[in-house]
Amino acid sequence: MTELKVVEGDITTIKVDAIVNAANDSLAGGSGVDGAIHRAAGPRLGEACQRLGGCPTGEAKTTPGFNLPAKWIIHTPGPIWRGGQANEAQLLANSYRHSLQEAVAHGCQTVAFPSISTGVYGYPLDRAVLIAIKTVRQFTKKDPRLAEVFFVAFDSRTAAAYRRALQLS
Ligand code: ADP
Repeated sequence: MTELKVVEGDITTIKVDAIVNAANDSLAGGSGVDGAIHRAAGPRLGEACQRLGGCPTGEAKTTPGFNLPAKWIIHTPGPIWRGGQANEAQLLANSYRHSLQEAVAHGCQTVAFPSISTGVYGYPLDRAVLIAIKTVRQFTKKDPRLAEVFFVAFDSRTAAAYRRALQLS
């Protein structure tokens, strides 16, 4: 059975088979976790992303990890929060599900997610956390090939939201 774990820290330092990047649809790099991943992985990541030609919201595309401890980086643009009536919940679930599909397709056993869309994209944290956990649980129940899925929280508020939701779910 897949284990779901919360860790507080910087996703660029985590040694897993794949980390997920909360990207934007151009895959050109950006602020927040995206910028941190591009800085830590090095310039070859930007070149690889350019060759991918963008990625629609909720889809996921994979590159090598380059200078990161992680072997792969799975890039997924989450939805921008527009008030909740613009299919945001479905798109956020799609980001998690498609990222998990990419991880399995690349033979990964361990994968680490940041809190997709809850930074600059403004998705309310408590709602996003429930979608993240529910989608990962549903996927790993059907396909138990992943050994561990980490939710990496960059701040204590995010870590607390994940811990609370995991205990309640
Ligand atoms: P989005 O545009 O999808 O909202 P952000 O990068 O702005 O993406 O924020 C998503 C989450 O990632 C936020 O909780 C932010 O604090 C967190 N974050 C920022 N840098 C890192 C990092 N190095 N490792 C893990 N999480 C990070």
